[in-house]
Amino acid sequence: MKALKDRILKDGRCFPGGILKVDNFINHQMDPILMKSIGVEFVRRFAATDINKVITVEASGIAPAIMVGYLLELPVVFAKKKKPSTMENMLTTTVFSFTKNRTYDVCVSKDFLCPGDKVLFIDDFLANGNAAKGIIDLVNQAGAELAGMGFIIEKAFQEGGKELREQGIHVESLAIIESLDNCEIKIK
Ligand code: 5GP
Repeated sequence: MKALKDRILKDGRCFPGGILKVDNFINHQMDPILMKSIGVEFVRRFAATDINKVITVEASGIAPAIMVGYLLELPVVFAKKKKPSTMENMLTTTVFSFTKNRTYDVCVSKDFLCPGDKVLFIDDFLANGNAAKGIIDLVNQAGAELAGMGFIIEKAFQEGGKELREQGIHVESLAIIESLDNCEIKIK
């Protein structure tokens, strides 16, 4: 997606450890016009896929997921990182955070992830695929079906994309970063 790649090259910044900072248009300040185009592109790429629900993880996945849900007129569910005391019928899994270097629990109510659901997972980044694997676990626990996974940015020098595709999952990434070596952003 050209507009996204141009924006990453213009505004993205590299941090040690292979981290790309895009917090002036995705992760902190958000660009709704670009986010709308991101939603349109996801809809185009998953046009042949049977989906009845969009799922993401709070917080940064919510903006692209809501765009996709809005365009497809489907509900959007976000997995929560803190279990609300009022939430019953929870499905829970543990995820290792690449950027924070620690594990955290994510949970979703069985009321909103149900047997027979065909879910599209949308998130901001794909790195080692830990958040994605957590969602796969929740989808399996619910007896739902994973229809596909869409990421705004995939870092191809980490293993997540390869592992998910090897499992036969339909993965779409709108910008694929080949390398951040020497603080230089190289996009496929
Ligand atoms: P994974 O679970 O695939 O290892 O990592 C994906 C999650 O970690 C994303 O949801 C994102 O929040 C965060 N993440 C991973 N790599 C980066 C990065 O280079 N930059 C930013 N901003 N977030 C990242």
